[in-house]
Amino acid sequence: MKFNPEKCRIPDEIGKPFIDPEEIWDYINNTPSTPERVREIIQKSLDKNRLTLEETAVLINTTDPALVEEIKEGARELKRRIYGNRIVLFAPLYVGNYCVNNCKYCGFRSSNKEQIRTTLSDEELVRNVEALEEDGQKRLILVYGESPKYSPEFIAHTVKLTYATKKNHGSIRRVNINAAPLDVEGFRTVKEAGIGTYQIFQETYHPEAYTWYHPANTLKGDYNWRLTSMDRAQQAGIDDNGLGILFGLYDWRFEVMSMIRHTNHLEACFNVGPHTISFPRIKDASGLNIDKKYMVDDPTFEKIIAIFRLAVPYTGMILTARETAEFRAKAIQYGISQIDAGTNLQIGDYKYHHEETEKNSDKQEDQNLNREQFKIGDDRSLGDTIEELLDNNYIPSFCTACYRLGRTGEHFMEFSVPGFIKRYCTPNAILTLSEYLVDYAKPEVAAKGWKVIENNIKNVDEKFHDELLARIERIKQGERDLYF
Ligand code: SAM
Ligand code: SF4
Repeated sequence: MKFNPEKCRIPDEIGKPFIDPEEIWDYINNTPSTPERVREIIQKSLDKNRLTLEETAVLINTTDPALVEEIKEGARELKRRIYGNRIVLFAPLYVGNYCVNNCKYCGFRSSNKEQIRTTLSDEELVRNVEALEEDGQKRLILVYGESPKYSPEFIAHTVKLTYATKKNHGSIRRVNINAAPLDVEGFRTVKEAGIGTYQIFQETYHPEAYTWYHPANTLKGDYNWRLTSMDRAQQAGIDDNGLGILFGLYDWRFEVMSMIRHTNHLEACFNVGPHTISFPRIKDASGLNIDKKYMVDDPTFEKIIAIFRLAVPYTGMILTARETAEFRAKAIQYGISQIDAGTNLQIGDYKYHHEETEKNSDKQEDQNLNREQFKIGDDRSLGDTIEELLDNNYIPSFCTACYRLGRTGEHFMEFSVPGFIKRYCTPNAILTLSEYLVDYAKPEVAAKGWKVIENNIKNVDEKFHDELLARIERIKQGERDLYF
């Protein structure tokens, strides 16, 4: 553990809450926004500096449409300048939907008797992973309800089984998890299984709102236990953490400020901020019946994403298939760096697509909300998503090089190490795209892909051009898993 007591704001109380609602509201209510300040703050972020709580509050309180546009343009510029045009792709795989909790917004809540409960057997898990591999996926996030069935040992078993499953040229090279908070020992167990990111969403940082959505007599009802999950993960040696807020549960301004506060806490205590931040927005779910008062509309959601890009410029930002293809395309410009694709939330329902139909062309059948957690907005196949990215000159990437070479905190390195992206990220994105084009793409998508690779070679450090071209050739000859 790299706990840093000198810098940590609550040195003796690791594990205690660090969100102070009064402090957060004070910033929101007493921080004015002026054009000069907004421009100064955008510039500070473009100069590669993290924003403070006060600076984030200025952006939050900016309502003049022209200034909001400047914030969004600032985020676009930061993304262009620092990260370029790679988009990392992954898929979620739900392992089981038994759940002892009763979160009011979730289709898996225990009081929802309509939900059909299931846990993938080993055989089913392997079949689903093989189907995902046959589609071209390389990075998965395994998702679990909260249940004694899903112990750390069980989670570790499913992670190892996923890594061990190989179909033809397919392999899953990075397994992230989204699972209920564990104790330090539990985190050690899942770390030993080789997880990438441990992701958990606070849902809402507001203690009273939290208590309303998560009844007190449930495990998830303990706000502090959830809030301090990442502290325990860090203590267990997991420094690759993914934060998230479920937008729509409480006032978005409070949530954004709180997550920046959470980030400050992690940086101060452990010298490492969140590896990724996710932006789930409430979607329809089986029997969902919650007040729409705090729902976030599209323009506000775009502003939120832009503010996060500027406020925490070093972190990866994830927007899932909860959102429509159109919204995701827009949000990518403001800084989203990872999306899921080919997503199917129906448990155990990933199929061998191209054995049954034309390669990469089918979609999930109509969603049955009694067999999944919530409704998705983007049900395109992986192939169709990749084609759209290529049409816009993005490089779809399945890169897992840093994780496998022990270079942890790759998003931070991309941001802070000069030349890192030109030297590692872009060539590795190109190599993983090359594999996809050779192994899985339809001919017309492959043609677009090779064109995008040609266009993007100029974004690779010149010293590596020859070696990169040589490796692409080796992939065409049948070698796999080449990276810098
Ligand atoms: N059961 C674990 C937990 O609650 O931490 C694992 C995560 S749960 C399966 C995945 C996430 O889905 C939740 O953290 C929540 O933010 C999100 N979620 C739940 N209901 C949702 C809904 N109706 N719309 C959008 N996202 C939802
Ligand atoms: Fe269970 Fe997680 Fe859904 Fe809550 S959000 S009911 S803990 S699966």
